[in-house]
Amino acid sequence: METIHYDAIILGAGAAGLTAGIYLSRAKLKTLIINEGSVGGQMILTHAVANYPGVLETSGRDISLIMKQQAKSFGCDIESNVEITKFDLSSKKKMFEIDDDEIFTSDVVIIATGGKPRKIGAINEEKFKGMGISYCATCDGDFYTDKNVIVIGGGNSALEEAVSLTKWVKSITIIHQFNEFQASEIAIEQAKNNNKISFIMESEVKEFLGSESVEGVRIENQQTGEISNLKTDGVFIYVGYTPNTDRFKGIINISSRDEILSDENMQTNIDSVFVAGDVRKKKYRQITTAVSDGAIAALSAIEYLQK
Ligand SMILES: Cc1cc2nc3c(=O)[nH]c(=O)nc-3n(C[C@H](O)[C@H](O)[C@H](O)COP(=O)(O)OP(=O)(O)OC[C@H]3O[C@@H](n4cnc5c(N)ncnc54)[C@H](O)[C@@H]3O)c2cc1C
Repeated sequence: METIHYDAIILGAGAAGLTAGIYLSRAKLKTLIINEGSVGGQMILTHAVANYPGVLETSGRDISLIMKQQAKSFGCDIESNVEITKFDLSSKKKMFEIDDDEIFTSDVVIIATGGKPRKIGAINEEKFKGMGISYCATCDGDFYTDKNVIVIGGGNSALEEAVSLTKWVKSITIIHQFNEFQASEIAIEQAKNNNKISFIMESEVKEFLGSESVEGVRIENQQTGEISNLKTDGVFIYVGYTPNTDRFKGIINISSRDEILSDENMQTNIDSVFVAGDVRKKKYRQITTAVSDGAIAALSAIEYLQK
């Protein structure tokens, strides 16, 4: 198998990885991004991004396409929709094998593998995934034109994506486990002012009901313990995320919540391995903060390579 050497390899082509790719390749370092999913990461799940400075409201997909174009224009290579079949971060020269047939090595690595939507753990969630259960309004919203749907969650993503769904669906019931939302005032106000949206608070979905696809949910009221069923044509789940760190457990220092630990320069406990974006331990997870991490990780990597 032929081995191709790079100055830097970035894992993940979301906002953090693409930004690191822009900085590293613009610094004339031979850079490769290896991405196990589609380029853009969580950005492509986001219907409307209104808080990315310098860009008037647009789709996350459009922002990610521009970032990809920018990285490529500086010479960054991108391998996307591949699988990392083997890797080694223990030697000075880092190694990644993809799809069992290509080997890449590098002097530095930036881990920007982000996260994936968290499941609620209710009965039949796995069975109906893609059969009435979705984690992405942007991807699946139009399948529910003129239908009645449920959104589970109470943070910004749940409320904002519920509002974006109203352009397709007939009605939305937001089910949230607490009596208050964990979202910004503006997101709460927009959801409350939308007459297609109603709310069931202090309640948890315990089971998805149906035969071929979801036809309803079984809900437990957290205050009274009362169980009730609600009919629906589909369910969108927004209850947070899980960092993509399974591969790195036992190799890199990771928090009790599975986030990679780093210092403010994005340095992990392994020399020459940096981290950026939602996969690292931090409080706020946004495109802006992922982009900031990506820039810092790349600048730290450049400094490391110049030593
Ligand atoms: C529904 C929703 C709405 C949102 N709305 C907004 C908003 O309006 N404004 C805002 O600022 N933020 C928003 N966010 C948050 C924002 O999208 C994220 O914080 C940001 O995109 C994270 O970028 P990232 O590069 O760190 O990770 P990700 O976007 O998760 O990208 C990581 C990439 O790495 C890939 N990958 C995973 N594992 C591996 C591996 N082992 N090797 C190689 N590649 C791997 C993944 O496939 C993915 O492409 C929203 C998020 C969601 C889910």
